[in-house]
Amino acid sequence: MHQRHRVEFKYPCLRAFLGSPPDAPARVWDEGRRDSPRVGHPSSLHPPPFLVVLLQDELDELRSRVKAWETRVWRPYPWRVNPSPYRVMIAQFLLRRTTRTAVARKYPSLIAKYPNVYALARASTEELEEELRDIGLYRVRARQLKAAAQYIVVHHGGVVPNTWHELLEVPGLGPYGAGAVLSFGYGIRAPVVDSNSGRVIARLAGLNKPKLKVLLEIAWLLVPEEGHDVFNYGMVDLGAYVCTPRGPRCSQCPVSELCAHYGHPVLPSLLVRLPLGSSVGDQRGRGSERYGDG
Ligand code: SF4
Repeated sequence: MHQRHRVEFKYPCLRAFLGSPPDAPARVWDEGRRDSPRVGHPSSLHPPPFLVVLLQDELDELRSRVKAWETRVWRPYPWRVNPSPYRVMIAQFLLRRTTRTAVARKYPSLIAKYPNVYALARASTEELEEELRDIGLYRVRARQLKAAAQYIVVHHGGVVPNTWHELLEVPGLGPYGAGAVLSFGYGIRAPVVDSNSGRVIARLAGLNKPKLKVLLEIAWLLVPEEGHDVFNYGMVDLGAYVCTPRGPRCSQCPVSELCAHYGHPVLPSLLVRLPLGSSVGDQRGRGSERYGDG
């Protein structure tokens, strides 16, 4: 029996269906004619402003391909080894607009000096600036780290919170950091959308410069319950190593057969329908870097 599951999202502009062929609407909205739904199909009578259609099998395929690829390329950066919510949170602040190599050099000594939220909250801003000087943006980072630590001490008794909404309240952390703390630090399913994984999602879906909230909605849909951390590392690493801002190496990509950007514009993987007149697909070689950090 074919089943179709409708998933409600908090953003009314986005609706999603998980289904299985042959009755999933994706089969009707295909053939690269996303701006022209087939006449007579119910969806063409009342086209939703935004629709994501996924077939369950293809969603499973996407997840397993990303996870399998990640298990081959995973690198033991210091924040990935023995991760704790605190350690993950610190890494997310440092990784913004800074290379992993540079952060990897600084991270161990920073964690050794400030091993927990209390130690970080007690540090003076000047001391933190000095500590962070050699990886750049040290004034901003020092203020952000201290503000986040003080907030957690005051509002959460020094324990990094473990819910999406509480984490979003932590100054400077944002959805990227919140997802990372949950998935990598607490082992709780959540998406990790930085500039790398966001770019992968956008290209998979054939979206041009989507807003962060749209990427987050899709990411929530994609991230699996089991192995969400591996999947999230995989999406971030895909964006870092393969699906780069310019010149993505699609021939080496584990999900190319499921990717709208690569030339599978609708099926067999993931279909995103935008409002009529919106720009979709055909953005080869161009990224969507106006969100996230990386
Ligand atoms: S096929 Fe190409 S564009 Fe698509 S996710 Fe892979 S590298 Fe990125």
